[in-house]
Amino acid sequence: MSAFDPQWRDISTTSRSTISLYRIHQAISHMFRRRGQESGLSPAQIQTLLFLRYARPGIRTIGGLAARLAVSYATASGIADALERKELVERRPDPTDQRVMVLSLTTMGLAQVEQLEDVVDDIDAAINSMPDDVQQLLEHALKQIVGRLQQEGHVITYEMCWGCHFFRQDAHPQHPGGPHHCAFVDAPLPEPNTYLECPDFVSRVVNDHVVDDHVVDDH
Ligand code: SF4
Repeated sequence: MSAFDPQWRDISTTSRSTISLYRIHQAISHMFRRRGQESGLSPAQIQTLLFLRYARPGIRTIGGLAARLAVSYATASGIADALERKELVERRPDPTDQRVMVLSLTTMGLAQVEQLEDVVDDIDAAINSMPDDVQQLLEHALKQIVGRLQQEGHVITYEMCWGCHFFRQDAHPQHPGGPHHCAFVDAPLPEPNTYLECPDFVSRVVNDHVVDDHVVDDH
């Protein structure tokens, strides 16, 4: 009984949905490959540019990139090297820890990623063509699937602060690093960083009943 077996799919709703998700995965891979051929970049290089545009400070490192792409440190380092040679990315030691290399987009890199951001827009268009109630059902169903896959360690979800259990809005109105607070790292959080992706995000809606609350100190 496998979703890859067409006879089994014929009688199994679950398998038909599973193979549809597999095909969407294939379609997304194709979109990245095609765009990569047009722009002279590999799919991993495109993903890296997108990561560096939207990841929160602190994870724009070789290690953070390796986690985001689910590859080894050596592979992530090789991808960063290639992008450095194309003058799209630069790296420098973290001022607080010289062993850590911080990655950032160059001006050329930022211009390049702006050309690539619509890489999965055909998926958006397909969803957008459905009635609103179907879109809402789809969103709900996909969230359940992603949540389950995250629990099983297959994927990390990167989201911004505003729906996060650890986010404390306006906890430090006078602090130069504020005005907000992240209870996960127990540190002030400036406004622009709250709109960036973070792998430590925990949904407030889903998890507030199971995650221990943190004491927020103003400092
Ligand atoms: S843990 Fe939550 S509040 Fe803290 S930086 Fe990440 S998303 Fe923002």
